[in-house]
Amino acid sequence: MITPNDPAASTGALSEAAHAWTLPPVGSNPGTLANATTPGSFANQPRIAPGRRGALTFSSPDTPHMPPVSDKTAWDFLPEGWATWEGAAMTPGSRLDAKLTETAFIQSDGSLRHVIYPSDFTASTQLEFARLGIVSPQMSRVAEREPHLTAPQVRDEIAAGRMVIPANKVHLKYQLDPMCIGRASKTKINANMGASPVSSGTDEEVEKLRWAEKWGADTVMDLSTGGDLDGCRDALCRHSHVPIGTVPIYSMIIGRKIEDLNEQIVLDTVRFQAEQGVDYFTIHAGVLRSHLKYAKNRLIGLVSRGGSMLAKWMLHHSGGRRENLMNTAWEDICDIMREFDVTFSIGDGCRPGGLADASDTLQLAELQEIGKLTERAWRKGVQVMVEGPGHVPLDQIEYNMKLQRNLCHGAPFYVLGPLVTDIFPGYDHITSCIGATNAAYHGASMLCYVTPKEHLGLPKKDDVKQGCIAYKIAAHAADIALGIPQSRDRDDELTKARAALNWQKHFDLSFDPDTARAYHDEDLDVDTDFCAMCGHDWCSVRISKEIQEWASGKDEDMKWDKPKKTAALTAEQQEILEKRGVLSPDEIHMLASKTKKQLATGAAASAAPSTDDKKLSCHSDYVDAEDAKRIQKEKLVQVNVAPALNLPTHDSVI
Ligand code: SF4
Repeated sequence: MITPNDPAASTGALSEAAHAWTLPPVGSNPGTLANATTPGSFANQPRIAPGRRGALTFSSPDTPHMPPVSDKTAWDFLPEGWATWEGAAMTPGSRLDAKLTETAFIQSDGSLRHVIYPSDFTASTQLEFARLGIVSPQMSRVAEREPHLTAPQVRDEIAAGRMVIPANKVHLKYQLDPMCIGRASKTKINANMGASPVSSGTDEEVEKLRWAEKWGADTVMDLSTGGDLDGCRDALCRHSHVPIGTVPIYSMIIGRKIEDLNEQIVLDTVRFQAEQGVDYFTIHAGVLRSHLKYAKNRLIGLVSRGGSMLAKWMLHHSGGRRENLMNTAWEDICDIMREFDVTFSIGDGCRPGGLADASDTLQLAELQEIGKLTERAWRKGVQVMVEGPGHVPLDQIEYNMKLQRNLCHGAPFYVLGPLVTDIFPGYDHITSCIGATNAAYHGASMLCYVTPKEHLGLPKKDDVKQGCIAYKIAAHAADIALGIPQSRDRDDELTKARAALNWQKHFDLSFDPDTARAYHDEDLDVDTDFCAMCGHDWCSVRISKEIQEWASGKDEDMKWDKPKKTAALTAEQQEILEKRGVLSPDEIHMLASKTKKQLATGAAASAAPSTDDKKLSCHSDYVDAEDAKRIQKEKLVQVNVAPALNLPTHDSVI
């Protein structure tokens, strides 16, 4: 007999013999809890390995006609004078040039790698440390934060170019806690903020930074286009525990026309922001003058601020005969970024701004150029991630992710959404979170959040929270689907608490306990063995608990003592409900006062001599059926549909 805990249950073979279905042959990345009851991820088997061998780590199985994985990694784009190989040492007797040094180190899978590099070379970036086989303190910290990876595995992923640690040396002296972005690690999310010419200021942006960190943002981008740009950026770098990204061209054009931009201004601005501690820069160097002719076929043209400004610059200078100056100055920009270990986030200046423009020649020609820029940056020792779209129909997302993986040789892909429909302004955190989940499953490593204010205005504090939560859902859902070890454990714990009707544990394990508790207590301020959604008689979880053979909910840790009156509706929870708009502030106040009065009465009673009266009343303490019915009648309005359905009115064990 197959039991849920039987490892054989997670393979297709056994089910085939016993049932009429066969599970996919891939997958079987099981949950790490002993009593996981499902087959686990159907994604490809994890293959964390150095170099090319690890190219498919945590990846989705390809649907037909998808671009293949690249046969190159960052090891194929070393600086001039470098060489590397795996396996045995040089032929005995071979002599190395005196200006060169050879090092060898054991990689995370036990294989040996040799590297030859100039003797006067000093490593400056995480990529360069990794190339020399060095595990930096930042790599060790990342391994602590990603328990399924060892520090040598982090180093090998960075050396292959599939992972970055955006950690400017200046920012490391403040409060930065190093993190990584790459498909071998958990999916990350970014929150955008920044003052605009018409709204917000530095204090408000720092407040939003704290708020974004509270709600799980792994990085924050300062996209300020107004106010005190330098002051705001400095404040964000000094106060943040997460990496800060910027788009330097925004500052370059403050007080000047885009046409007046030159290479010296570009380099000065990049250096200034690097000195402030910015961890990654979006540079739109992939849009070339030869691409611009394709824009005429689009419904909405170029929606990237940086991309459109650089296109205007190219058109102005010699009628489109001068190339994008970010591209021609690329190596000089690399030199500055290498000095501070700033990571590239190569911008997608031609990303589609609507579904109709997705996957067009303009977008993909730019992506091809971004692949070349990735190779050029790696040759300079600079860490690279790549930015992606934008607005993409659901059926095109996998192709977009896998084309980037091919053209950019596995460099982490950082995508904005993408939105999968265009007709829901006000709800674009939802339309984009659907695309983001798909993007992460098919290869994206970081998801740039979209808030309900997208396309409409500057996000406020609550918009930041809504955007962060939508994207934490997307990232977490993808991690579970990819079978990243331990990613589903908290879900399984919560399911057990839910099955045990242990409300407090249920809320403690949830991502936003205050909101979950407020919604529960809005209707029923007693923690008992049903909730207001179905009521006592129809609570299938309660009924299931009564089935003796049912394993879930029998966990000792999950048991709850007695039904409890909750300390319902704290000030924050009242605010949550107010915003929800279901109850008026007066109704919430009445409900809160009632609860507090009852709690106070209970507290006073508990000071009295020992008696059952001090118990907070609930049906399970006394007579199951009658008290349950009373609570239900008093607190819930429920239509009894049982007679109409010809069902017995009294519940029974199935
Ligand atoms: S009443 Fe319904 S929603 Fe509430 S715990 Fe029971 S089954 Fe779940």
